[in-house]
Amino acid sequence: MGKVLILLLVAIGVWFFLRGLRNGKRDQSARIAQDVPPETMVACARCGLNQPRSESIASNGTYYCCEAHRQADEERS
Ligand SMILES: [Zn+2]
Repeated sequence: MGKVLILLLVAIGVWFFLRGLRNGKRDQSARIAQDVPPETMVACARCGLNQPRSESIASNGTYYCCEAHRQADEERS
């Protein structure tokens, strides 16, 4: 009877341990995704220059490398 109880406790311990590992992994990957989002490269709609989206100027769903190109495209349309 005592053996069965110990086995049960060990099984519960292992279950919690594995669950903790899974949760830890998920939290870690979620945190990494939040802190360092994969930088998307976008092309300037005016000149086609590729650069990180964070450094681009977004306008109506398109991206520009600089303010001058954004204005140039807006004036054209
Ligand atoms: Zn440009």
